[in-house]
Amino acid sequence: MITGKTTNFGVIGNPIGHSLSPAMQNAGIRAAGLDYVYIAMPVLNEELAQAVTGLKALGFRGFNVTIPHKQAIMPYLDEIHEDAQIIGAVNAVLNDNGHLIGYNTDVIGFIQGMKDRGFQPAGRQALLLGAGGAARAIIWGLIKENVKSLTIGVRNAAKAQQVAEYFGKYMDIHILDWHSAEFAAALGQAELLINSTPLGMVPRTDAMPPVDWSRVDPQAFVYDIIYTPAETLFLKAARQHGCRTLNGEAMLVGQGAEAFRLWTGNTLPPVPMAEALRAALQQQK
Ligand code: NAP
Repeated sequence: MITGKTTNFGVIGNPIGHSLSPAMQNAGIRAAGLDYVYIAMPVLNEELAQAVTGLKALGFRGFNVTIPHKQAIMPYLDEIHEDAQIIGAVNAVLNDNGHLIGYNTDVIGFIQGMKDRGFQPAGRQALLLGAGGAARAIIWGLIKENVKSLTIGVRNAAKAQQVAEYFGKYMDIHILDWHSAEFAAALGQAELLINSTPLGMVPRTDAMPPVDWSRVDPQAFVYDIIYTPAETLFLKAARQHGCRTLNGEAMLVGQGAEAFRLWTGNTLPPVPMAEALRAALQQQK
């Protein structure tokens, strides 16, 4: 029950009506028996500054940040954690007695998801498909985990080269056109194969990145950060090839749980969060 003592949390974005975070976070809060509530708050671009000041004045202990505010919020914060600084995006803000600290919890969400399934990225050869916004958190996570090598396959190599140059001070990243012979060879080397493109996501579930599965080692761990559908064509092909697979649900739940850990020190239980996520997705269909 919400009372005068309930601590407030939420997510800001625009549009925000389809956010799955309230269902997911409140399910975790309920299961943990905590006196918290988590709500979705639409915030227009031109009202972001007032919204941040308002959330602080209202005593929100923390809030998530989603599209289109992940970069734009940075100037309004007092401090930015290293991960968020390097990735260039904030997805969670802690209000520490009026001192606002920006974090990026996608990094931990992404990495923890595969570790929880028994795959350790350290020392592995990673092949990432796509080099957009989500890829930046993935790249930084893989660098922090000390992967042996990181190759990125894309449709537009010139554009992705800028991403490789940006992260080049931390690690050499090889960019390959995914229609090239070099990419086909890289598929054969990959121990970890990740899709960070939207190819295969609802409603275009018939799409898939151009992977020649005959090249892929069946021992490879294959990760698609898409969570709708639960099994993309990409993951289905990987499973049929004999690979261990993981979808994006773990990353989404993991980033949410990590935000709550930063805000409160409490660990929210992932199973009810994932169940609520699936139920919310079902309702949106
Ligand atoms: P984004 O910034 O738009 O980047 C998408 C990347 O995929 C870019 O490299 C883009 O290439 C490539 N791409 C897009 N459409 C393509 C197509 N038709 N053919 C080939 N390449 C294509 O998107 P994002 O924010 O990184 O999100 C990507 C996916 O990750 C989405 O499905 C999103 O739902 C999912 N996601 C999941 C989580 C989670 O927690 N599980 C978190 C974040 C995102 P160009 O640069 O050439 O356009």
